[in-house]
Amino acid sequence: MDRPSIIHKDAANQRLRPNWTDYADERGRFTWDQARQDLHGLPGGGLNMGFEAVDRHAAGTLRYHAALRFVSRNGPALELSYAELARLTNRFANVLQSLGVGKGDRLFLLAGRIPELYVALLGALKNGTVVTPLFSAFGPEPIATRIQIGAGQVLVTTDVLYRRKVCQMRVQMPSLRHVLLVAEDGGITHEPDTLDLATLMAAAPDTFSTVATTADDPALLHFTSGTTGTPKGALHVHGAAVAHGATARYALDLHPHDRYWCTADPGWVTGTSYGIIAPLLQGVTSLVDREEFDAERWYTLLAQEHVSVWYTAPTAIRMLMKAGPELAKRHCYPCLRFVASVGEPLNPEAVWWGQEVLGLPIHDNWWQTETGGIMIANTPAFDIKPGSMGRPLPGIDAFIVQHLEAEGEPPRVRVIDTPDVEGELALQRGWPSMFRGYLNNEARYAKCFAGDLYLTGDLARRDADGYFWFVGRADDVIKSAGHLIGPFEVESVLMEHPAVAEAGVIGKPDPVVGEVVKAFVSIKSGFEAGEPLRLDILAHARRRLGAAVAPKEIAFLPVLPRTRSGKIMRRLLKARELGLPEGDTSTLEAGA
Ligand code: AMP
Repeated sequence: MDRPSIIHKDAANQRLRPNWTDYADERGRFTWDQARQDLHGLPGGGLNMGFEAVDRHAAGTLRYHAALRFVSRNGPALELSYAELARLTNRFANVLQSLGVGKGDRLFLLAGRIPELYVALLGALKNGTVVTPLFSAFGPEPIATRIQIGAGQVLVTTDVLYRRKVCQMRVQMPSLRHVLLVAEDGGITHEPDTLDLATLMAAAPDTFSTVATTADDPALLHFTSGTTGTPKGALHVHGAAVAHGATARYALDLHPHDRYWCTADPGWVTGTSYGIIAPLLQGVTSLVDREEFDAERWYTLLAQEHVSVWYTAPTAIRMLMKAGPELAKRHCYPCLRFVASVGEPLNPEAVWWGQEVLGLPIHDNWWQTETGGIMIANTPAFDIKPGSMGRPLPGIDAFIVQHLEAEGEPPRVRVIDTPDVEGELALQRGWPSMFRGYLNNEARYAKCFAGDLYLTGDLARRDADGYFWFVGRADDVIKSAGHLIGPFEVESVLMEHPAVAEAGVIGKPDPVVGEVVKAFVSIKSGFEAGEPLRLDILAHARRRLGAAVAPKEIAFLPVLPRTRSGKIMRRLLKARELGLPEGDTSTLEAGA
């Protein structure tokens, strides 16, 4: 079918007047100081993300309004009003106080989308405790690595996840003072060296005075992956709430009576910034589905739960597309008003699929763990160009830059003004949700900046109308089903298998999940490269890393290509895998 290259904004947003309609005008007027005025601040001064998300509304007209609505396959929906959420988060903050956990201490969360996770995150924020949500699909290795790097003092998880993924690694996490368990069967937990969260909550007082945090105090620590070394902990501050609130209005078009559904896992920055904080800041009702992806279920939820704003991801959209339009057409979606997506490139086909099947185009937007909030988006205020990430939001200035520095020097860049030229995507520093450091890694943080520009590590181009188009990553990091996976972390675990001599990991393009993790290994003498060994290495990786991170494919090579300085040339592995030109191989070690 012939489709135009633009979807006109009036055709895309017919059901309610959007929050903004004039891009240039709003950008001209916007200041972050003014956006800060939308929040209350703490009674004695200062700013606290948890207070703004919950208590501010609990004390006002939204008191009895549903804040979170949990649905699951088994059992009735559970709704928490802003007032109930305030009470429960107060209790959790009191639990932390009773354990001697205070401001600046670090709490990790490892759970599916259970109510306790939301209560713990928001309660910890009110206590000034820094929160790290982890993917519950992680295996024991990534969990332990992150708790070690973050020197986590408290872990909130379920009894089942604890037994499966944490217990055996606990000696490797000496910083962990308290493990608080939620019983998955709703009862009381009795694991040695742990505490039962329900018992503690029952004994905790209902009132709590939010700890005095400032906009610059740390609130969240999100782990992300790089090409080399261990995962990086990106530190975000309470002031990020200013950006969460403003961007939710601009890029998600949240209105006060919306029923909003963000499908992101809370272990990913999207699941926190826009799955928890931003919708609560806007005082809307957030739907939380406790189940995994299921096309039939998702369409039913969109229809029956009267979802009006839906924020999801390209992999999910492609899986829905794969399930066929008939499934979607069993329902109608009269309440659905705005659909957005993030995390990976969204192909134009998917934008059009939205238009044809849901009656609404998908608004792609771009951001990353380090930016803490949406930076570039297709919004209601201008026409959509399917395939593009959109334009920078008010308060955000984005550029395409070219590097000028020599190897080993600090970054130095030149801004490219000419449209349609590829380069690295860079952002003018100064937005409130910008990360404030990589934990214990100042040098790595410094490398992300060239003067006042934050270098994103993504390659992109800007067209003459100011729309940005994603080109690829500047590094070897893999994006699989929305997960950012560091090849080094996977290679390290593969190397622990007794048969593996060396390992190189790449992202292999996949039509549904974007990229799948593929590993190349060479094996030690005395082992036989065959199917049983391949399956054994796959099982080892899955056990240690978890399904989300482990390779889906493993291939044997007699030797891996390395540079003369000994680094595995992942790019070359990828080029060879895809039958692409091998590029510059002048640094390739002889014989590889
Ligand atoms: P994460 O920090 O895990 O959220 O991953 C951020 C990375 O995901 C970005 O640096 C991009 O490489 C990729 N990404 C996010 N949004 C988009 C998008 N709309 N289009 C293309 N890539 C995206």
